[in-house]
Amino acid sequence: MDKPWDAIVIGLGGAGLQLAYLCHLDANWKNKRILFIDPNPPTKKTWCFWHQGAHSLDAMVEKSWSKLHIGTRDSSKIQSTGNYSYRMIDSLSLYDWFFDTALRLNPQWSFASDTVTSCIRNSKQWQITTPVISYFAETIYDSRLSPTDLVPPHIFQHFKGMMIELDKPLLDPNTATFMDFSTTYHFPEPAFVYVLPFSETRALVETTAFSSRFWADETYDNISVDYIKRKFPDAQFQVLSTEKGRIPMAFVNEATSLEPGFYKIGGAAGKIKATTGYAFNRINHHLQCLLTNKESLAHESAGRFKFYDSLLLSIIEKEPQSVTPIFRELFQKNEIEKILRFLDEDSTLTDEIKIFASLPWSPFLKALVRKWR
Ligand SMILES: Cc1cc2nc3c(=O)[nH]c(=O)nc-3n(C[C@H](O)[C@H](O)[C@H](O)COP(=O)(O)OP(=O)(O)OC[C@H]3O[C@@H](n4cnc5c(N)ncnc54)[C@H](O)[C@@H]3O)c2cc1C
Repeated sequence: MDKPWDAIVIGLGGAGLQLAYLCHLDANWKNKRILFIDPNPPTKKTWCFWHQGAHSLDAMVEKSWSKLHIGTRDSSKIQSTGNYSYRMIDSLSLYDWFFDTALRLNPQWSFASDTVTSCIRNSKQWQITTPVISYFAETIYDSRLSPTDLVPPHIFQHFKGMMIELDKPLLDPNTATFMDFSTTYHFPEPAFVYVLPFSETRALVETTAFSSRFWADETYDNISVDYIKRKFPDAQFQVLSTEKGRIPMAFVNEATSLEPGFYKIGGAAGKIKATTGYAFNRINHHLQCLLTNKESLAHESAGRFKFYDSLLLSIIEKEPQSVTPIFRELFQKNEIEKILRFLDEDSTLTDEIKIFASLPWSPFLKALVRKWR
């Protein structure tokens, strides 16, 4: 039998790549033998997150923004992100770093393009089986997310975006559009457009909706094109590339994380925030806790935030027409910096009371009644 690996990382997606990056930076992990397994080719995703101060992956950040724009049918608000900056990493840059740099600089690491079919605990180590071979390791980091781990209701954030090049310099490269409901307010499900400008002429324009029903590609495309034409009526544009995806807006059954030496990571560990789909920084914090053996911090449950999320998920499921007005009031009546802190679950109870007091009450009261009925 080959020498067991110190660690096997199942899945080289958002969590597996960040784990590789953090291990590469960490002197305690640098010399460990790590095997990364994933059967699928890299996919293009733009990963955005907000953060205060330096971040462990800053060297990979392609663009950051200090102002965010929120648009509704009858208002448009641009605000500074305060102490936060909104940052973006291109998943393909992280894949390039992994395959071109990390594997070369860490010859004790390896990558296998294979599908893990089972993980069994054998005496003191884990046996990982694929259709081709078995591997052995002391520690497993597993990012496989089974649909059966998702707690209903099965709502998704689904989206399709287009990278466009305008023929005129009309974009403000310092301001990203976080949510713009101005062209989607009449949709039965909550939907909005999201814009990441990379220069005065180039931007990712993405149409996003929250629902259990996915849309045909043309629906997202038509909304994005309509949005671009309304915002820039005098410009022509070219579509350079597209990206699409769906992110589960659900709590994850985390019971499977609790065996010794076996850690669920990423979405599989419930690190996608159920009501926003943002995951990148939550995954980063969780991984840093795991790698430094501060698991208790990683598993700390933010009980009241789960409660807030459960109410909003119930509203998205049962009363989707109320969601756009809730977001409109949230962004109109609160500073963006405070909202980012709240979404990061770093706010105080006093901040949260003020935020909830600014929102329409009735959908939340009905969601409370549904919860306790
Ligand atoms: C297009 C897109 C844009 C996004 N933008 C943002 C954003 O701006 N900000 C943000 O915070 N989040 C964003 N997200 C969400 C974020 O990408 C995910 O939440 C994050 O990728 C989760 O990381 P993960 O490793 O848990 O899952 P994934 O990235 O899905 O990785 C799981 C990996 O496991 C592999 N795998 C599955 N089964 C097996 C198996 N049996 N054996 C071996 N490997 C297996 C898969 O091939 C996959 O590569 C976006 C998602 C998408 C789809």
